[in-house]
Amino acid sequence: MTTVFSKIIRRELPAEILFENDHLIAFKDINPVAPVHLLLVPKKEIRDLQSLAPEDLYLVGELIAAAQQLAEQLGISNGYRLLTNNGAAAGQAVFHLHFHLIGGAPLAPIG
Ligand code: 5GP
Repeated sequence: MTTVFSKIIRRELPAEILFENDHLIAFKDINPVAPVHLLLVPKKEIRDLQSLAPEDLYLVGELIAAAQQLAEQLGISNGYRLLTNNGAAAGQAVFHLHFHLIGGAPLAPIG
């Protein structure tokens, strides 16, 4: 299913892109919940984490490496959250797999 994220990847919609390679893109969330709020998105159209096939698991490893690099670059490596909402019941609104990289301010405990 094509979503706004594929349109951003294809440059059909604008976004503030901070990182891109052949497999991944990272851009600023349009509605940030913290001073740093990026979305890290595999370019392949994968609906959600639960749909991630074994042959695509490497994308999550690459995504974590990109998150580490961006966290360092943006000065939040001492404290950030990297999370994905899987499914509508968890609050997923865009059905193209993505991880939120959130930081730059104290974050409320979630557990
Ligand atoms: P979800 O709720 O699916 O985990 O997160 C979707 C995120 O995408 C939300 O935080 C929302 O603000 C962001 N978002 C939705 N549409 C756009 C858009 O067109 N551009 C950007 N940059 N972010 C978007």
